[in-house]
Amino acid sequence: MIDKSTDALLSGYRRFRQDRWPAARAEYEALASDGQRPHTLVVACSDSRADPALIFDTAPGQLFVVRNVANLVPPYEPDGHLHGVSAALEFGVKVLGVGRIVVMGHAHCGGVAAMRDGAPDNCRDFVAPWVGQGTKVVRRVAQEVGPDQIEGAAEEAVVRLSLENLRTFPWIAEREAAGALVLTGLHFGIADGVLRALRGPGRFEPLA
Ligand SMILES: [Zn+2]
Repeated sequence: MIDKSTDALLSGYRRFRQDRWPAARAEYEALASDGQRPHTLVVACSDSRADPALIFDTAPGQLFVVRNVANLVPPYEPDGHLHGVSAALEFGVKVLGVGRIVVMGHAHCGGVAAMRDGAPDNCRDFVAPWVGQGTKVVRRVAQEVGPDQIEGAAEEAVVRLSLENLRTFPWIAEREAAGALVLTGLHFGIADGVLRALRGPGRFEPLA
């Protein structure tokens, strides 16, 4: 049952079926019969303004995407608990054999802001402990930069944190050391559409 609130979804689906499906059908059929072989695993924020498939202009089958609040990768904790991000990483790396993992942060990230200012009062169940992973690094950054730079510097610090945590997964660190897996940190500027990449120990520079 589709009500008025989902009319935008229905009309979008109709455009997909009418405008795009005829040309894309063979590609989807091949993906269905051959399976997926994405070249890259992306860890991005759930924010509706920073969609990896749009930003990288990719086709179906090319990106294996994990999105969550503030593009966080928790550390390697094989404790039997329900680790959705880690499960996606394990499948993407071990089964799909991606050659690259991209962590993409973005400007005006509400999740990173919650690390600085606290989670919304009505989001204590899950958001508060989730963003709590980044509180320490974000507070440290806040002491190092001016007030007008805190937002961007904190978002970059969270990308670096996720990259550090990726390297706590032994099968990621091993593949990176062997040259079989490349880890990349990016930050997307929503207002200007520019992607900046982490270069060296701490600098983000615009991609050409
Ligand atoms: Zn965000």
